[in-house]
Amino acid sequence: MRLTSAVTIFAFLLISCLTQRLQAQQPIPSTSQKITAEKRYLDEVKVLTDLPVVKKVFQIFMDMEPQTKQDHILLTEIPSPPFKEQVRAKKYAAMLKEAGADSVWIDEVSNVIAKRKGKSGKKTVVVESHLDTVFPEGTDVKVKQKGDTLYAPGIGDDTRGLIAILTVLKGMEKASVETDADVLFVGAVGEEGLGDLRGVKHLLRKGSPKVDAYIAVDGDGISSIVHRGLGSHRYRIGFKGPGGHSYNSFGIVNPHSALGKAIYYFTTEADKATRQGVKTTYSVSVIGGGTSVNAIPYESWMEIDMRSESPEKLNEVDQLLQTAVQRALKEENSIKRQGPDLTVDVKKIGDRPSGKTEITAPLVQRAIAVTNYLKVEPQLEVASTNANTPIALGVPAITIGSGGIGGGEHALNEWWVNDKGYLGLQRIFLVLLTEAGLATGTSPSAVKK
Ligand SMILES: [Zn+2]
Repeated sequence: MRLTSAVTIFAFLLISCLTQRLQAQQPIPSTSQKITAEKRYLDEVKVLTDLPVVKKVFQIFMDMEPQTKQDHILLTEIPSPPFKEQVRAKKYAAMLKEAGADSVWIDEVSNVIAKRKGKSGKKTVVVESHLDTVFPEGTDVKVKQKGDTLYAPGIGDDTRGLIAILTVLKGMEKASVETDADVLFVGAVGEEGLGDLRGVKHLLRKGSPKVDAYIAVDGDGISSIVHRGLGSHRYRIGFKGPGGHSYNSFGIVNPHSALGKAIYYFTTEADKATRQGVKTTYSVSVIGGGTSVNAIPYESWMEIDMRSESPEKLNEVDQLLQTAVQRALKEENSIKRQGPDLTVDVKKIGDRPSGKTEITAPLVQRAIAVTNYLKVEPQLEVASTNANTPIALGVPAITIGSGGIGGGEHALNEWWVNDKGYLGLQRIFLVLLTEAGLATGTSPSAVKK
């Protein structure tokens, strides 16, 4: 990593998906062995990559590199702060339209959706990157170039992803690739931090058109295949009382006492519950309240983060928190000597669902097969990304990288280098093509043996 230590610290301070992702990476036990796809998926990739039309798309990716770089810089320099993705969304919609999508629209929450019709349209495959960055309004997003390296906040995470899927669309248009399934190219809002995956949640909301496979493009490189969603629940919990003079009002409820008890009961039980089984974490991360040393506070609050790739485990720890909070409330009220009762406000401020797409699922096998084809060792990972939502809804989903090399995600000196970036485009295109099927009699089912 080419980060200075100061920037590393800054990066850690910013709450976000990719930081979570790096922290969450846990090699699965089999990483010491080579991970290889089942033969039928390797065959499928072999058949496709031998086709002239696929070779043509690969060549287009190479030829378009100067244009791809221009698009990348242009889009990076349109700020896209959390909850304020509209300006970038509008521009991205125009770019997808110009690239040749059949129809492009911006939905109620500002997701950009470009539909490329398939021959049968019986299935729908989504390929998506996120529009939002972690950077607040006013951040200087001008791209600076030093040697081959592009520097700018958001250059990699996830503007490169947006440009990667845009370029895949361009390549498919220019080479007239016809898929069997409909493909939706999506720029999603609200992936980072408190955005809480709101773009993908809206896209896949109840009653929305069915999606059969979901490929999120986030992060750099061409080895990672995120097929397990690291879920998280986040809470802000506030105990409230009347507050008063520390001597004159003594005997009224004290929110800090209740908070202290709640933390103690919660962490004691959560510790026991998380010693065994799948990695499950919890953190009382921020606490606050109180005004003066001679005043009983009127409020005491905390923010808590808990994570697991197991929905059951996450719910278990969540339940321990709820029980601890109610127990602390009851106990604090039972010892009061005067005044009104203490109250508590429990607010869920983050909810990222968890689960996994099995390694044996065709989508994961295809991603492995394509990575094998590129002669790169596939890294099967757990992370918190937009794929969490489809995974939790039972839609096969993965998150793969956008190619090239990058670093400093969520830091002001974020960088990205076009180190064989075209391989990232080939990978996205091939995974998409195997999943959507080529319409001319060489659909994946046709090569299954
Ligand atoms: Zn990201």
